[in-house]
Amino acid sequence: MEKNESRMNHRRGVDELPAVAGRGYCTVKIPAALAQAIDEYLREEEAEVRGFRSRADVVVGVLVDFLESRGTLKPLIKPRFEHVNVYESHVLVRDNLLNTSVEVRLSDSGPYCVYCLDGVCPHVGYALSLDDVRETLCRRGVVVRDDVAYGGGYVVVLDGVAYPLATE
Ligand SMILES: [Zn+2]
Repeated sequence: MEKNESRMNHRRGVDELPAVAGRGYCTVKIPAALAQAIDEYLREEEAEVRGFRSRADVVVGVLVDFLESRGTLKPLIKPRFEHVNVYESHVLVRDNLLNTSVEVRLSDSGPYCVYCLDGVCPHVGYALSLDDVRETLCRRGVVVRDDVAYGGGYVVVLDGVAYPLATE
């Protein structure tokens, strides 16, 4: 760890050059061992639940945490999910990480996410955290477990792009 740190310090002058690789992005090299550790983390269920889909998601999440704790960064933080509307047959969930609205169908066999094509996903978890949804499902005789409800956490918006924010 110390060895890597000193190498990074030594190379800082180079890394600070504006290496713009795309609109609003630049490239930073990290040790291969760290990238490997991130890849292992990305295969865990927790990474999926938190919305981490790539190495960049994890690195940005950690950096935002660090810079925010030092007061260097005042990012725009929003909840990942916002409840748009609950209907008898479905609920619309705004996903600020994916920057889209997701439909979760409420059928007699339980909730189903049209975006993930799955009955178990963060959108379904969020839908089940809404009282209106639980009542609707209850009326249809669908048994809803308490432990599947999921608040969704937060995203941080940097330069118009949303990243997952690890807060839990
Ligand atoms: Zn989903």
